[in-house]
Amino acid sequence: MSGARLLILEGDGIGPEIVAATRTVLDACDAAYGLALRLETAEIGFSALDAHGTTIPDTVVAAARAADGVILGPVSHNDYPPVAKGGLNPSGVLRKSLDLYANIRPARTPEALGLPGRAVDLVTVRENTEGFYADRNMFEGPGEFRPDPDIALAIRKISRRACRRIAEAAFALAETRPARHVTAVHKANVLRISDGLFLEECRAVAADHPDLRYDEVLIDAMAAHLVRDPGRYDVIVTTNMYGDILSDLAAELSGSLGLAGSLNAGADHAMAQAQHGSAPDIAGQGKANPVSLIASVAMLLDWLAQRGTLPEGAAAAAAIQAGIAAALADSATRTPDLGGTGTTTTLADAVADGVRRAA
Ligand code: ATP
Ligand code: MG
Repeated sequence: MSGARLLILEGDGIGPEIVAATRTVLDACDAAYGLALRLETAEIGFSALDAHGTTIPDTVVAAARAADGVILGPVSHNDYPPVAKGGLNPSGVLRKSLDLYANIRPARTPEALGLPGRAVDLVTVRENTEGFYADRNMFEGPGEFRPDPDIALAIRKISRRACRRIAEAAFALAETRPARHVTAVHKANVLRISDGLFLEECRAVAADHPDLRYDEVLIDAMAAHLVRDPGRYDVIVTTNMYGDILSDLAAELSGSLGLAGSLNAGADHAMAQAQHGSAPDIAGQGKANPVSLIASVAMLLDWLAQRGTLPEGAAAAAAIQAGIAAALADSATRTPDLGGTGTTTTLADAVADGVRRAA
């Protein structure tokens, strides 16, 4: 059968608002490009905890596995009860269960915002299954614990296999970009063994791509370079936590965290997920910028097109990008994080109009 089956999970905080906004754009794409999407929904987060005693029921993981793609709203695991009481991080469970090892996070300054000196056009390729995240280790035992009331330990796992495949994903992406440049970000001067292993694999993959530019930068220096001269970088490959932090920095430099798309991708599955969290401080106020999730969905449609699941997805993704660019030009449409006077709905409606015009 043609078309694609997508599972939509609303999440917490601003999740329901930005998911509704994203559906407006997805519906416009479906109508304009004949995507024949079959959309399913399921509950995760606080609403699932109330109904099922867990923030991510097994049935939802199975539905995600059976779907062609997943759209995940932000989840607020900071406030969940302990894991033993069902307070799992749904995002972590899905990333691990579907082996979504690459978190692809583009940051690109929209021309319409006119931000001189902040012309960012880079992609962070973040390892997504191990590193320092306690919940990433949950199927292999606790990654964080207190051996003594006054001592806490966190274990950071770095494997050769995960480093190799994230480096390969980064170089494959750089092959498709004009700058053809990969920067590995690390702290191997201190974490000689773990970040050393990461660099070993990056260097091995770089040797297989002699036509691409490759360099290495320390994470602390990278934070400074990004603020001073973000235009220097193209594809950044790094381990889980550095990538999480650096990509927020890059997104904010490009205009707002609310603009940054993010795709979690593996060999067989992909999940669109906004780069930001559930933003409880602005939930329910109509202020949330929906572009991050909308741009993430464009990435998912592109991924489905590249796999041949949804050939029309590439044109639909390009139309979403064009719609975003056009919608951001008007300050009455833009949300407050972009200095505008618009709302979640005005911005999403403008993107949907742009999609229809592009078709
Ligand atoms: P979580 O616990 O879910 O990760 P958080 O407290 O880390 O939440 P984020 O959601 O990452 O917070 O947001 C950080 C800041 O950026 C907040 O002040 C939030 O309001 C703002 N922000 C995040 N997403 C958006 C958005 N889509 N539109 C506007 N502002 C946003
Ligand atoms: Mg956060």
